[in-house]
Amino acid sequence: MTNKEGLLIVLSAPSGGGKTTLCERLMAADANVVRSVSCTTRAPRVGEVDGESYVFLSREEFEKRIARDEFLEYALVHGNYYGTLEKTVEDLLAKGHDVVLTIDVQGAEIVRKIAAKEACIDQALVEVFLMPPSIEVLEKRLRKRNTDDDATIARRLDEARREMPHWNKYDYVIVSGTPEEDHRRLAAILEAERLRTTRSSFPEVS
Ligand code: 5GP
Repeated sequence: MTNKEGLLIVLSAPSGGGKTTLCERLMAADANVVRSVSCTTRAPRVGEVDGESYVFLSREEFEKRIARDEFLEYALVHGNYYGTLEKTVEDLLAKGHDVVLTIDVQGAEIVRKIAAKEACIDQALVEVFLMPPSIEVLEKRLRKRNTDDDATIARRLDEARREMPHWNKYDYVIVSGTPEEDHRRLAAILEAERLRTTRSSFPEVS
């Protein structure tokens, strides 16, 4: 995989943790930031658009793509497949975009392992965990979203309890506050990451 100077931003948070809103704010404020649209086998929620929210695939089609080795990473989450197409990320990074992957902790682990072997991914990678302030707040957010029944909410909360302890494997943790606070903090992280000497094209000064 090749890239120019774009960052590969892995953003993980439990379902309902606010990562979609955060990502949308980031993209609205910074035209160079784009989200890699994932594939999933879960059914679309009301208002979700195929190709924008996710690429919605049948299980059969998803498994065909696994067999063709098309995914940079994929995972089973809540019984459904979710995955990032390698070609999507490759094309966006090659154009110099900062690419956000809103993926779960299993996907993040895979990307971390790829980065350990591929220098250009390692160079581009910035990992951020968006931590809900508490399980209670997360439950309130999931209920407010009004898209899931009680059993689904209970399953997502269980999953959140399993995901939250992984926060310290990431480069950064943002304890989620207001949408404005979350955005300000993530923008600050990206600004600092872009200024790293290791990413600078500043000429040698003698
Ligand atoms: P939801 O169904 O709420 O949209 O997403 C459920 C979980 O799947 C979230 O934790 C989300 O980050 C994760 N997810 C979404 N897309 C991907 C992906 O491409 N790869 C992986 N590993 N997880 C994903």
